[in-house]
Amino acid sequence: IQTKFPTMGTTIFTVMSALATEKGAVNLGQGFPDFECDPKLVDAVTEAMKKGLNQYPPMTGIAPLREAVASKVEALYGRKYDSASEITITAGATQAIITAVLAIVKPGDEVIVLEPCYDSYVPNIELAGGTVVRVPLTPGTFRPDFVKIAAALSPKTRAIMINSPHNPSGTVWTRAEMLQLQDLLAPTDVFVISDEVYEHMVFDGQLHQSAARFPGLAARSLIVSSFGKTYHVTGWKVGYVAAPAVLSAEFRKVHQFNVFTVNTPMQFGLASYMASPEPYLQLPAFYQRKRDLFREGLARTRFQLLPSEGTYFQCVEISKVSALKEDEFCKWLTSEIGVAAIPLSAFYGNGFDQRVVRFCFAKKDETLKAALERLAKL
Ligand code: PMP
Ligand code: GLN
Repeated sequence: IQTKFPTMGTTIFTVMSALATEKGAVNLGQGFPDFECDPKLVDAVTEAMKKGLNQYPPMTGIAPLREAVASKVEALYGRKYDSASEITITAGATQAIITAVLAIVKPGDEVIVLEPCYDSYVPNIELAGGTVVRVPLTPGTFRPDFVKIAAALSPKTRAIMINSPHNPSGTVWTRAEMLQLQDLLAPTDVFVISDEVYEHMVFDGQLHQSAARFPGLAARSLIVSSFGKTYHVTGWKVGYVAAPAVLSAEFRKVHQFNVFTVNTPMQFGLASYMASPEPYLQLPAFYQRKRDLFREGLARTRFQLLPSEGTYFQCVEISKVSALKEDEFCKWLTSEIGVAAIPLSAFYGNGFDQRVVRFCFAKKDETLKAALERLAKL
């Protein structure tokens, strides 16, 4: 056939997970937990199914889940979203992000992405007919460079996509950085797609600086999150978008025709489980302990550890361990050492190689220890 996407490949996560399975490697590549979610959450979903809550829910998501999300966002970030007109339940963050892009980006519009960025952003912009404007995060620290972002703004800029806590680097934007973005955008009509899927994984007492906390940003933002990350159920693919009513209305125009609704029993299960804030309030401590366990082990190798302020990712610099390019190194590490990782070059359009790879530490302690035992040989 005459292919529409001649250069579009398979995602690095699929490639590395397949290689990890083939080689029997410990999979610290693709980001997903290898432990079970809270059985109470499974019970809540099962109960909903048994009650017969198995038909189409409303297009925007069931009211109790939208209300639970609105209450959580208000309690944590101090902004009140109207659950009827400003919260939409989505099929994970992936569908939320592409829907947001399709809803606001017109052919010829420019969209700023900060590289390295999550692998779906650029193809999403291209599918919408937009022009991708890549701005590098500061090399080495992965912090936003507002001089470069300001220089990238043009009359054609329609949106900027931001992501904190950041996949893959684990940086967490500070309040000062969010304020700088707010000031920079104040004289513009630029929208923000704020990918906050790791909002509940922020360490060392730092706070997640949701765009919802900043009125000047919230007014122009579609904020995306994912229950998959927060409740250890990445396979359920349920998330949400919080955005002012005018933006939510545009979002829903696309949402109703690309997925229409999201599975009903999961929504009821999540709504009743969200009645208690404990699970997400305990998440920072839960993952910080795993991060520390993993970092302690890595500190005994020749990898150079980068900071991990949030997310469930830890990046390391590999040059003292190997002279291979990042992607070759990840394949070698998976095949020969038995630990899968993700090359950072996969998060750059031009494959920029800075000799850094990403490990996921959302794993049982025994999995992390097994990986560390293998990495200790390096
Ligand atoms: N954004 C980022 C930054 C992510 O890391 C992920 C998950 N890998 C997603 C979006 C997609 O989330 P979901 O699985 O809910 O679609
Ligand atoms: N978000 C996960 C990661 O960064 C993977 C999701 C996917 O497989 N697309 O590892």
